[in-house]
Amino acid sequence: MTTPRVHSIFGGIAVSHLIESDEGLVLVDAGLPGLEHRILRRMALLGRDDLRLIFITHAHLDHYGGAAALRRLTGAPIAIHLDDAGAMARGETDLGSCRGFGRLIGPFLPMLEASVPVQPTRADVLVEDGTDLRAYGLDGVVVHTPGHTPGSSCLLVDGRLAFVSDLISAVFGVRGAIFFAQDWTQVPRNLARIQALEPEKIYVGHALRPVDGARLQRCRVNASWYGVSEG
Ligand SMILES: [Zn+2]
Ligand SMILES: [Zn+2]
Repeated sequence: MTTPRVHSIFGGIAVSHLIESDEGLVLVDAGLPGLEHRILRRMALLGRDDLRLIFITHAHLDHYGGAAALRRLTGAPIAIHLDDAGAMARGETDLGSCRGFGRLIGPFLPMLEASVPVQPTRADVLVEDGTDLRAYGLDGVVVHTPGHTPGSSCLLVDGRLAFVSDLISAVFGVRGAIFFAQDWTQVPRNLARIQALEPEKIYVGHALRPVDGARLQRCRVNASWYGVSEG
């Protein structure tokens, strides 16, 4: 398999990452509903129409909202961890409990849900920890990292690229922060698990630029309002 190239596309709130290899395309997250044309446009610029999988990291509408339309337009199946499949199928977004900045933006969720038509989205493929994505042309394995949501999952590609979605974030610089979690107690060990994999580049859920491996290693969980920080 060839070395994958990653194209990051802003999807309204979250960022989608299109992984391109000679074997095909795999999309990590689908953005808000109605913005799927951004992903299609990028595919057209690349001269590719072979999207083989839409991998959804977790059931929050800014990550899965565009998935159903993309499936309809490309024929690609949608994959999500089995513990988040139900919420996505019901069109739900459960932020859990909010910390820090999350307390300010969390109350706007109902407004967001009212303003974008979230389609209940059935998954085609249910993944779990260790699911191998070679069948979709990608040297990638699923790493289940619950906490943010029960089914939150990362993808480790080529053994060196990690797609961690909202396990860490880089909204305010690369300091890293988590504002929402359904179970905060699970976050530290899952962050440690991703650190132990020692990826070289880390693609997060809300930033266009990847975080480098050294920076990931400096991330620590502490008791401050922002949850996870650079130590
Ligand atoms: Zn999220
Ligand atoms: Zn997010």
